[in-house]
Amino acid sequence: MNRKTDVIVIGAGHAGVEAAFASARLGVSTLLITHSLKTIGAMSCNPAIGGLGKGHIVKEIDALGGVMAQAIDQAGIQFRMLNKSKGPAVQGLRAQADRELYAQAVQNIIFNHPFLTVLQASVIDFNTNDQGKIISVTTHDNEVILTQKLIITTGTFLRGIIHCGTKKIPAGRWGEKPALHLSEKFMRFNLPLGRLKTGTPPRIYKDSINFSLTQEQPGDTPPPPFSILTDKITIPQISCFITHTQAKSHDILRDNLHYSSIYSGQIKSLGPRYCPSIEDKVTKFPDRDHHQIFLEPEGLTSPLIYPNGISTSMPEHIQESFLKTIPGLENCKIAQYGYAIEYDYIDPRALRHTLEVKNISGLYLAGQINGTTGYEEAAGQGIVAGFNAGLSVKSQAPFILDRSEAYIGVLIDDLILKGTIEPYRMFTSRAEYRLSLRCDNADQRLTPMAIKIGVISTLQQKKFDQKMTALSAYKAALLEKKITPNQAAIYDLFLTMDGKKRSGIELLRNASISYEILEKIWPDLKDYDLSIKEQCNI
Ligand code: FAD
Repeated sequence: MNRKTDVIVIGAGHAGVEAAFASARLGVSTLLITHSLKTIGAMSCNPAIGGLGKGHIVKEIDALGGVMAQAIDQAGIQFRMLNKSKGPAVQGLRAQADRELYAQAVQNIIFNHPFLTVLQASVIDFNTNDQGKIISVTTHDNEVILTQKLIITTGTFLRGIIHCGTKKIPAGRWGEKPALHLSEKFMRFNLPLGRLKTGTPPRIYKDSINFSLTQEQPGDTPPPPFSILTDKITIPQISCFITHTQAKSHDILRDNLHYSSIYSGQIKSLGPRYCPSIEDKVTKFPDRDHHQIFLEPEGLTSPLIYPNGISTSMPEHIQESFLKTIPGLENCKIAQYGYAIEYDYIDPRALRHTLEVKNISGLYLAGQINGTTGYEEAAGQGIVAGFNAGLSVKSQAPFILDRSEAYIGVLIDDLILKGTIEPYRMFTSRAEYRLSLRCDNADQRLTPMAIKIGVISTLQQKKFDQKMTALSAYKAALLEKKITPNQAAIYDLFLTMDGKKRSGIELLRNASISYEILEKIWPDLKDYDLSIKEQCNI
């Protein structure tokens, strides 16, 4: 007897975890198959979630009841709102993560769902019937597991090759085997395959760094959470540090470019334009005499520091000599060398808005396999693929997000209509409706849709309803309160002397009038929650 399930998800990275949890939340039996239970929720590269554009996606995932925001709230060791000097639409929350706590938080969530089972195995094949519909997968030990829908989220593992100088090692990530068989199957179905590249910096032992030569960067206090379910961040918060490359660092890199896997021609595929390697930076911006490096702790007790900004595929000895030219890193000890990785991806124009492959019924793709880069971009696609696979099992209407409704909608629409020839990452500038697609209103935009398909927990729905009730009450109070220009002048608020009464809402619309000013006139407005006042103000 073959094992049988409604939905199979291959790969428990950020896309796979969201996909499996989304499908299970619809009440369909879901099997998540992944190479290793230990690497579920692993962060392949930098230990951080969110940022500009990406933070918006995390908020949207939370609004749809997903995993990522809850996990980072349980694992975040430094939270910062980026772009604070700009308007609320383009601000983005970013949190440094304790890698181990993050993976644990993800595992706690997915191991405890009644409709979700996890299996440690490697999938080597998928099978279709005569009508071209998905019917099963085959694992490395030749077990055939029957399924109605299949979601493939294999990340950087498809025929992955790690490059470090002239060394080439088949791998999906450092120390992990690649997925070698699935690409051939994709080719047999004429799916358009391409090759992309990404890279990671060396990891450095914390106790070998002289932090007195660097600049400390503390997080925001209090740390703002990502999830509506989190009242307060309770994990201890720590600082990051900033240092810079020097002219002599650039000289070393330039003098040895011929050793670089990228510049020697060993790597032919394109990498993420906005996350270039350090050898790319010194070549493309020759007039810059330094580049910023963020020294980010990998965890509260981890002995390692992640030097953000210097991903490289230079050979080990060049990495050693280059790092030692950087203030604070003169005596640094490297725990793991930086590397680049090349992998197969599928041209996402082969997909529908549901992320189902056009010519294979029941097969969905999500994450880095679709040409994106980043945990958040992967997770955003995962949740949509998971909902659609589950809804299709239940013969219900698909879940499609429009560009005007969500950054996730922009991401998928861009991918499936335009395709990509370089790793695609999210920016606020990609969203033409960005003034209305803000972090602060992600729940108002998306939670009602998620409630409609039945995937929001009772607790989350209660919190959402409480927020909406509080927002309505505050708006009603502001509408009710009225003041004439003469009365306002008593509080040093000078309005056009037209004798007209203005409501609190009308006053708040004026950019120079804050809710604090209104509280001087009407002290009972102080009783409302700060987040509600800020939301109404925005
Ligand atoms: P992954 O997180 O890669 O997860 C894939 C999962 O699938 C793994 O658990 C794997 O074990 C499993 N799997 C694969 N094949 C099979 C199979 N056949 N059977 C069973 N299980 C399978 N992103 C950035 O935003 N910035 C960066 O600077 C950056 N640098 C990176 C550097 C490196 C070296 C790497 C590897 C990645 C980097 N990324 C970066 C990308 C980021 O890690 C990915 O975008 C993100 O993890 C993709 O998520 P995913 O779920 O698609 O795949």
